[in-house]
Order: sequence, then structure tokens, then C-alpha cells
Amino acid sequence: MLNFFTSEIQNLKNIDLYRKLKLVQGSQGSCVSISGKKVILLCSNNYLGLANHPSIKKAANKAIKEFGCGSGASRLISGTMKLHSELEKKIALFKNTNSALVFNSGYHANIGTLSALMKKRDIVFCDELNHASIIDGCRLSGAEIAIYPHKDMDALERHLKKSNGYKKRLIITDGVFSMDGDIAPLPDIVFLAKKYSALTMVDDAHATGVFGKNGKGITEHFNLSSNEVDIQMGTFGKALGSFGAYIAGNNELIDYLINRARSFIYTTALPPAVPAASLAAIEMIQSKPDLRKKLWKNVDYFKKGLKKRGFENINSQSQIIPIIIGNSKKVVMASEYLFNKGVFVVGIRPPAVPRKKERLRITIMSSHTRKDLDSALNVLLKMKEKILDGRP
Ligand code: PMP
Repeated sequence: MLNFFTSEIQNLKNIDLYRKLKLVQGSQGSCVSISGKKVILLCSNNYLGLANHPSIKKAANKAIKEFGCGSGASRLISGTMKLHSELEKKIALFKNTNSALVFNSGYHANIGTLSALMKKRDIVFCDELNHASIIDGCRLSGAEIAIYPHKDMDALERHLKKSNGYKKRLIITDGVFSMDGDIAPLPDIVFLAKKYSALTMVDDAHATGVFGKNGKGITEHFNLSSNEVDIQMGTFGKALGSFGAYIAGNNELIDYLINRARSFIYTTALPPAVPAASLAAIEMIQSKPDLRKKLWKNVDYFKKGLKKRGFENINSQSQIIPIIIGNSKKVVMASEYLFNKGVFVVGIRPPAVPRKKERLRITIMSSHTRKDLDSALNVLLKMKEKILDGRP
């Protein structure tokens, strides 16, 4: 057995796909310390800097004092506590849906919802760049999976046209694509769904809290009403600085998921400090629009800075900015170079992205200062000259 592990690890090393954990010392900020080295953090989804915000920590601490550390059981047994229920009511109001359900993570939400909803004689239409948890949920469901090329609405329509024989049809998409930072053409998807009587589901992990005038996500960004997308999923672990995820939709959907989503049923409920932190984070999203404004200012500044320094093809429409390098070895070299010069960006390699699409996935936060961004841009330029352009 030991041989199996060592030879598999060696194989990964041979093809530059071996990974190691990096230990972040202290709390999550715009700069962090790793192995005693202070680096600018350019690869966190803590977009609004809430992960270490005093108001959110205070809410979590208060919840521990009042309700303890553990929930003791799964939600359907005795684990449903006041804060889970308050959070679900708050999300339904925030998302303007009848109802909402909290899952222990975005991964749980996607696999649980998809596998509960879709069955053997159903079909799911799935963008080729959807998140791994969506792909896994589709596979687990046993439904037919029709993958359409990224954001290609003509291809989606061709698939829909051929799908008469199936019982249920569902179109699923990331709202903001996690590795490319572009946005799904949601109004077109909604239009096609209506035309072909398909259900729609959007994964708003990277849009919740940051997109839309009030941070309500991609539906608000496109001015779609909440009932135009049947199932809205979002996470608390990114812009909201907490942990866990939600599904928002109508009462029947939520009631069904409580009874049928295995990743909801067969796991211990989130500890009370977590929904408390998420509740406080939603309040901050609603009361502090300046956090979002600061984020978008930073994003704009950084993208302009990249262009000025000769980085081309920056197609991001969000706070996620990929620099495609297209080679696993080079992307590791680039990431190591940046780290040594004080900038922390991880190289993203297969299977997280397709082969030849290896990239540095840069994420901007509202907590970055201009000084952080300028330093990072200058180091990126040096990396480009040395590693991408091959200048000495
Ligand atoms: N969906 C998308 C688009 C994601 O990027 C992620 C996490 N990277 C998830 C779902 C999973 O969410 P979580 O981290 O809460 O499990």
C-alpha cells in the first residue's frame, strides 16, 4: 500500500501537479505571515475583509457564550438551534425568496441539492466551467449531463431542443465563474429556461455580498426578480467572511431538500458561532455599502495597473483576475517567484482548470491598500519579464 502512495505522489511530481499545504500564521488580512515571511495576500476569497472583522468576531463570541460550541446533532435530530433558524429567515429576506436552507458548506449545498432534485430520467445542462461541486452533484444525481461550451447560449439551446424525452430539465451555472472571474449570461439562460420549461439554478458563491447594488448577488446585478431563478445557492465562506452556504427558493423546494438532501440530513449542524457570524456579516453587507465600493475601486485600479504593465487578455468581470500561463511548471515557478518577493498567489493547475489553461488566480479584497496593490503589481511585472517573457 505504501508503494501505491509513494508512486502516485512521484507521478504527480513528475507532471508538476504535486501540491503542498501552506500554513498561514495569525488571522486572515490583506497581508499574512507564512513560514515567518510577511506576504501580500492575493489569493483569498475574503473579498470584503470580513473574516477577521471585529463585529463578526463579537457576534461569534457572543453565540459561544450563550449557546456553546457544538450543535450536538444533525439538523433533523436535535441540532436545529435558534441561530440556524434566524439565519434562514434572514437569507430569505435578503434574497427575497419564500424560504432558505443553510448547508454546512457550498460543496454540501451543491451535491445535496443536485442529487436530491435530479434523477435518472432527468437531464442537467451544465456550463463546462462550472465548479467541481456542481459537477460532482450532477454525477451523483444519476441524471443525464449535457455539458455546453462556456457561456455558449446557441449550444445550450441546441441541447435543450433535443431534450424532449426527459422528465425534468435543469440549467445550472456559476454566477461568477470561480477560476475565470467572468459572469454567466443569466438573463439569456432564464429566457431559454422559460422557452423550454427548464428549471434554473445559479451558484452565487463568488457574487454573494459583492455583486448587485445591495450585494444580493448576480440576480440583483441583472435586475432579475427572485422568482426568475428557481434555485439560488450562495456561500458564507467568501465575501461574508464566515462559513457554510445557503439554498434560497420557494417553500416546496426547501421542504423537499430538508427531507431529501443527504448532505443536509446526514451531517452535524453548524456550530452556533458560525450562523451568528453569517448573520452579522449579512448585516454588514446591508449597512456598509462602502466595503463594496472600496472593493470595486481596488479591482479597477489593479486591472488598469496590469494593463499598464503589459498584461494582455485580462477578461475578468469581477474581483477574480486570472493570468493565464498555460503550463504547470511555469505557473509553479511564477508563484514561487512571487512568494519569494513577498506576494502570495497560488498557481492553479489541472484538474481545477483545464490543461494549457494553468493560471495565477489573483483575487482582490477591499482591505488591500494602494501600497499593497502597487507593490504586488510591480512584483508581477518583474515576474512577467523574468518568467513569462524570459528576460534575464
Ligand atoms: N461553488 C463555487 C463556485 C466555489 O468556488 C466554491 C468554493 N471554492 C464552492 C461552490 C464550494 O463552497 P464551499 O467552499 O463553501 O464548500
